[in-house]
Amino acid sequence: MNINWYPGHMKKTKESIKRCLSLVDIVYELVDSRIPISSQNPDIDNIVGGKPRIKIFNKSDLADEKANEKWIKFFERRGIPAVLVDSINNKGLNQIIDMSYKLTDEKRKRLAEKGIKNKPIRAMIVGIPNVGKSTLINSLSKRKGAKVGNKPGVTKANQWIKVKGNIELLDTPGILWPKFNDKDVALNLAFTGAIKDEILDIETLAMKLVEKLNRISKEYIENRYGVSIIDKSSYDIILEIGRKRGCIVSGGEVDFTKACNIILDEFRKGVIGRISLEFPDDL
Ligand code: GDP
Repeated sequence: MNINWYPGHMKKTKESIKRCLSLVDIVYELVDSRIPISSQNPDIDNIVGGKPRIKIFNKSDLADEKANEKWIKFFERRGIPAVLVDSINNKGLNQIIDMSYKLTDEKRKRLAEKGIKNKPIRAMIVGIPNVGKSTLINSLSKRKGAKVGNKPGVTKANQWIKVKGNIELLDTPGILWPKFNDKDVALNLAFTGAIKDEILDIETLAMKLVEKLNRISKEYIENRYGVSIIDKSSYDIILEIGRKRGCIVSGGEVDFTKACNIILDEFRKGVIGRISLEFPDDL
């Protein structure tokens, strides 16, 4: 994950996020729509505390549409407003804005009673590495452009970016750690590319992904690669995919590693389909 999380570092990160939280009215918590549980921080409720929070299901373009809808309902039923977002194609951004107004309505009314009007709503993004925090900051800020607050004398530490409406976003996101000591979580993070391929070798990872995909729907692999999966091990399935794709080394054998890389890469890019790996029904 390019970050070495150790207890001291985690404590520091948490403290720094808590400091930033005291400056904002609302928190945008990003998760990966394909793995909304594995990609969330295990301590998030405690970290955010009572602040208004929007759960942002980013990369919704890569996840299964029905599963997306179910997840949104699942969290809304638990009192956590949630929205589907595709930060690359700017989808769901208006909903984030609308929800931000709704969730800060009371606070703004209280301020208005004291004569304070048009105070910007301040927000910050938090989430684990690779969940799309920088991409979302860019797409939200592209709409309005310029940074505010970087006048001389203003501390460089907190720069605010003007977003559509009267919203200002902290330009640096809070980076949170995932739940590490859970094998399934680590696998989900590795499948989606959130952690690079260091936890397992590529071959084992690809075989586990094929197994997982086939458990969810037999159509994913069959439709994409035109191979039957019935009564075959994931090893044999990958060999067949390799053969079909011309991953052959001299001597005619299948280049197994190459085939594994193709499958992982195509899954991560959404080429195999819009696939969710976690569902509310599993909980
Ligand atoms: P950060 O570490 O949380 O700041 O993540 P980045 O913003 O660097 O994004 C990590 C990767 O996810 C990049 O390759 C982005 O292009 C990709 N990404 C971010 N948001 C989306 C999205 O909504 N959809 C898709 N398909 N990819 C995304």
